[in-house]
Amino acid sequence: MRLTRYFLPVLRETPAEAQIVSHRLMLRAGMIKQASAGIYSWLPLGYRVLRNVERIVHEEQQRVGHIPLLMPTLQPADLWQESGRYNAYGPEMLRIRDRQDRDMLYGPTNEEMITDIFRSHVGSYKDLPLTLYHIQWKFRDEMRPRFGVMRGREFLMKDGYNFDLTKEDALHAYNRHLVSYLRTYERMGLQAIPMRADSGPIGGDDTHEFLVLAETGESEVFYDSEITELKFGEREIDHDSHDACRAVLEEFTSRYARTDETHDEAVFEKVPEERRRKARGIEVGQIFYFGTKYSEPMGATVQGPDGKPVPVHMGSHGIGVSRLVGAIIEASHDDKGIIWPEGVTPFHAGIVNLKQGDGEADAACERIYAALTENGLEPLYDDRDERAGGKFATMDLIGLPWRITVGPRGLKNGVVELTSRRSSESEEMSPEAAVARLVEIYAPHRARL
Ligand code: ATP
Ligand code: MG
Repeated sequence: MRLTRYFLPVLRETPAEAQIVSHRLMLRAGMIKQASAGIYSWLPLGYRVLRNVERIVHEEQQRVGHIPLLMPTLQPADLWQESGRYNAYGPEMLRIRDRQDRDMLYGPTNEEMITDIFRSHVGSYKDLPLTLYHIQWKFRDEMRPRFGVMRGREFLMKDGYNFDLTKEDALHAYNRHLVSYLRTYERMGLQAIPMRADSGPIGGDDTHEFLVLAETGESEVFYDSEITELKFGEREIDHDSHDACRAVLEEFTSRYARTDETHDEAVFEKVPEERRRKARGIEVGQIFYFGTKYSEPMGATVQGPDGKPVPVHMGSHGIGVSRLVGAIIEASHDDKGIIWPEGVTPFHAGIVNLKQGDGEADAACERIYAALTENGLEPLYDDRDERAGGKFATMDLIGLPWRITVGPRGLKNGVVELTSRRSSESEEMSPEAAVARLVEIYAPHRARL
């Protein structure tokens, strides 16, 4: 993409309405525009990041065998009356009446609708296990929408639902989700710690929330510092194996880590004092096992091996896709702007031409642009006729992890400069070497299905 042909409405001033850094930077970098309280348009740069986050979620869901579908945002109230949640949900649910006077709602989540799909089409235990998921906009009429996309009213969520014959199988699905979530967040450059949580209006027994540590997080958390040393990394897990998934769950949840809702001071005090941490965190996902809470009232049964109908065991599993964009910025920025992790960056590298209009510099930029593109990378070429300082400031603000700086002086010696946004370190090398380096850096971040 050439900047002169792109739409990147960056702001010079710091917007007064933004209280936290991610919100400020998203506005300044031209990523979002508020439409009304808690409802945002995703401008091109923000949209690219949102799509990257979404792509990683899709890839990691499908890697463990979960099946994508797409359910609507608007749902009939009847389904929620069946489960008993229509009245229980309260004012967070946006209720709508259509022209036929039918009660509708903008879905805050989809347990009822997926259970309806399941009961209409699945009749035998032989069709299990089954996990379906979608990535769709949700609406919750939050009392206090704030912090930009972090607590929106309309937000993008991945929600998945598992259907299993037995509790044991459903707990395996739970553990498998935990495995897949750990990988998902790490690919986005985040450490998200699974913490024992409270089940809230979804209901159920087993639940973990995934929290990214950040001062601006809305949840108070308590944990054993050893947990921050755990990495999922490149391990290959047989996701069909109950034992393999359970072992990961045990490894990542055996140390103390809880949100304030489930915090138990007496248990916490058993952690050696020097490892006890109290901090704040951003909830970026949650997994639930809730047994037959929906399948029973809604008649989602299958014929068991003995021919008798049994209600299925279910769980639901959410990832805050749009919130993650803010959470990644909270975890990765400096006073100049955003620092995107390679996995989600909107463009792989910026190309800064120090002397637009100089025949040689222009030609070198074009060659680098073409070479990166041929290698499947997406550069953002700042081809504006502007002074270097302004170009650097824009690149730093929008946070591309790598920058290639091209100028007549370097070109005389056959070199350009490759700069890391994170370390600010620059290295001179030939244009070919810079392209080769970027290809190598991004190799592990390609689609990995
Ligand atoms: P919270 O406690 O933050 O209100 P929740 O526990 O009600 O969230 P879940 O039902 O667990 O939310 O939804 C799954 C994920 O969706 C959450 O982990 C969070 O990342 C995201 N999410 C929930 N509410 C919002 C919101 N208002 N804006 C943006 N993302 C949200
Ligand atoms: Mg939650």
